[in-house]
Amino acid sequence: MSDEEQPEWLKTLEKTPLTSRLRRKESLKRFNTWRIGGDADCLIDVVNVADLSFLLSFISNYRIPWFILGKGSNLLIPDTSWPGIILHLSGEFKSWEPLEKNNSTHKINTVSVGAALADVTFAQRCVTHGWKGMEFLIGIPGTIGGAVAMNAGAHGGEIVDFLQEAEWMDMDGNLHISARESLDFRYRFCELNGNYGRIITRAVFQLQESDPETVENKLLECQQFRMEKQPYNQPSCGSVFKNPPGEFAAHLIEDSGLKGKKQGGAQISPIHANFIVNLGDASSADILALIDTVRETVFSKHSIYLEPEVQILQSSVYG
Ligand SMILES: Cc1cc2nc3c(=O)[nH]c(=O)nc-3n(C[C@H](O)[C@H](O)[C@H](O)COP(=O)(O)OP(=O)(O)OC[C@H]3O[C@@H](n4cnc5c(N)ncnc54)[C@H](O)[C@@H]3O)c2cc1C
Repeated sequence: MSDEEQPEWLKTLEKTPLTSRLRRKESLKRFNTWRIGGDADCLIDVVNVADLSFLLSFISNYRIPWFILGKGSNLLIPDTSWPGIILHLSGEFKSWEPLEKNNSTHKINTVSVGAALADVTFAQRCVTHGWKGMEFLIGIPGTIGGAVAMNAGAHGGEIVDFLQEAEWMDMDGNLHISARESLDFRYRFCELNGNYGRIITRAVFQLQESDPETVENKLLECQQFRMEKQPYNQPSCGSVFKNPPGEFAAHLIEDSGLKGKKQGGAQISPIHANFIVNLGDASSADILALIDTVRETVFSKHSIYLEPEVQILQSSVYG
């Protein structure tokens, strides 16, 4: 894109002094676990609250298409160029700060965690402290921001079970702190999500005391489960569809005869039918075609419309 073709907002942004790094024409393949997708016109590694506040009000003022991603582990990115701004939290958003509190009867282990910290790092630090509960995060390759936004869960636990409060920013760049009780959390849903103009910056969790060895054993158990039951060594987004009430999406897909089905470079995993894996050169279109096939086939066989859990960076597709 020549200088003359650049939108006005981009020219202004490039001249604005920010601590955060602005990248032009960045491939988004490195920013999602399916390893697919086109370029972003502008991707910003946002390193502090001041820059985030400026950027969100800038985006609102210029009405720029935008999206916030964590590790892109639940995200389908289109093959075409993304014409706006992708926000990627980094720097001070990777914070970890234990806040020990005592009430009259017992010690409460409270920790404040930045939204960009990896779930896996969080789970491992909890082992060192002997804090139990978050072992399930070892198999979830996202960030704390993404885990709260998606209410991530596994092995009977969900992130909301441990959350005390979340700090988030609105599209005018103002920070808020919300107690868990005041927030709408459901199965793989939280009202704090970039999709609704709310960016999670930090979360505070309360964790139960145990000992490092017990916590580590539980964590290894969770890891072992993944290695046995899921295609852990192939690019995917985890479960593509939510489980409908009283059913498992994987069972419905398998029962519809779709396990192993291929489309271009994508395949419904022969190991776990709710996973679509990239065999090497899958496009976003291949994956969308398999998603459509699954929904249509499962509906015709079971009269159930599977709802995608995966977020699609192209709100018009299922919006
Ligand atoms: C191998 C594998 C296994 C998985 N297993 C599980 C599992 O067991 N359980 C489970 O629940 N999920 C699982 N997932 C899915 C995924 O890891 C989770 O949904 C994760 O929480 C997404 O985090 P992320 O940082 O990658 O978010 P992204 O995929 O980058 O984004 C997901 C959504 O969250 C929003 N978002 C991200 N960060 C923020 C923020 N700071 N503020 C506001 N909104 C934000 C995005 O806009 C988007 O709508 C798995 C994925 C893979 C690849």
